Amino acid sequence: MAKTTRKADGAIAIQDSGEPRFAIDFDGMEKSGRSASTIVATRICGRCEACMKFSKENQPYSHSASELMKQIATKCSREPAYLLPGTPVTEAVFRLMLASNNRPMTVAEIQGGLGQAWASVIYLKNLSDDVVLRMVSEPNEYFIGPTER
Ligand SMILES: [Zn+2]
Repeated sequence: MAKTTRKADGAIAIQDSGEPRFAIDFDGMEKSGRSASTIVATRICGRCEACMKFSKENQPYSHSASELMKQIATKCSREPAYLLPGTPVTEAVFRLMLASNNRPMTVAEIQGGLGQAWASVIYLKNLSDDVVLRMVSEPNEYFIGPTER
């Protein structure tokens, strides 16, 4: 598994390799008529200091997807509730990608990130190479797919 570490600002840092990488296609999401900012806004934790600053005048939905993703990467993803073991795997991969600022990830990096978040229950999940590769390669409602970035 690839190594993931926490940077000083809390974002998950992933080491480089030459394998295929996967990321969230926010452009494709927008082209399909979905609002990327709304989709990202529903993944904020609602508990961290940044989330607490949201108010009636300053709603999460009024921020761009990239602003909200940055907040998730630096703040929300530090909350244990951000990636609970009960989270379905595809949703978890989506959240992991948000927590990494949508930096393209290899299958091994996805496995590593989930393994870190789910250290106590990872044996309950089937995260084999095949399962993860199929999940991120086939069309999915999260617009996760291969990327050349
Ligand atoms: Zn938060």
